Amino acid sequence: MADNKTILSLMAHPDDAEILAGGTLALLAEKGWNIVIATMTPGQAGSVTLNAEAISAVRRKEAAAAAGVVSGTYHCLESEDVFIMYDKPTLLKVITLFREIQPSLVITASPQDYMFDHEITSHLAQTACMGATIPNIEMAGLPVLPQVPHLYYADPVQGKDRFGNEITGDIMVDITAVMDTKEQMLCCHQTQRDWLRYISKVDEFVIMMKSFSERNGRLIDKAYAEGFRQHLGYSYPQDDLLGDILKEFVYSLKAKG
Ligand SMILES: [Zn+2]
Repeated sequence: MADNKTILSLMAHPDDAEILAGGTLALLAEKGWNIVIATMTPGQAGSVTLNAEAISAVRRKEAAAAAGVVSGTYHCLESEDVFIMYDKPTLLKVITLFREIQPSLVITASPQDYMFDHEITSHLAQTACMGATIPNIEMAGLPVLPQVPHLYYADPVQGKDRFGNEITGDIMVDITAVMDTKEQMLCCHQTQRDWLRYISKVDEFVIMMKSFSERNGRLIDKAYAEGFRQHLGYSYPQDDLLGDILKEFVYSLKAKG
């Protein structure tokens, strides 16, 4: 088991972590893990009434409040919606964050998803897991990571890739016990909830999150679940740390298959 009980969720936008992994973060918090929620952007595009600067300020506060529900902290890497780049300056920002936070467990977006912001974030996290361990990538005052963290990919939004093919996590976390906490985290993103409610006339933000968690839940005969896939490429940790920490909540669809 990891010495440093810090989990970093790196997603593209505010509310991604809460929708895709909020329940799992809540369970990890209950196990005594430090929760760090980071987003690549402050969600500049998330309003039709406030300009980019104004909505960003509001959404940073909303994201910090959501992290606060599980006694976590929030970091924004200040890229821009639609313009998240896989380039050296952005990678250096992400590696810096990894060295500051020193996570032993990382959750990021799916490498196949509905928009590039999510896919690029996924690739940035993958590279930062390794890059943060490399001494020759020097950063004054920031120690290298002692080892590559365990890396997990959350489901893509609505569980499908760009062709509509279903993507299902093979590690399912039963989040039924913390569904209220997940909803509370999500609802901190008030601007997004209000916006969707205005467009759809119902509480679409919460309805959407619940129906996707229910879809995953059905796969393991539970009310609600979140799915993950572990990065098992060369040089990344091969043991299932998430499954070990949350063993009473985790169901492997791999073993069943
Ligand atoms: Zn997003």
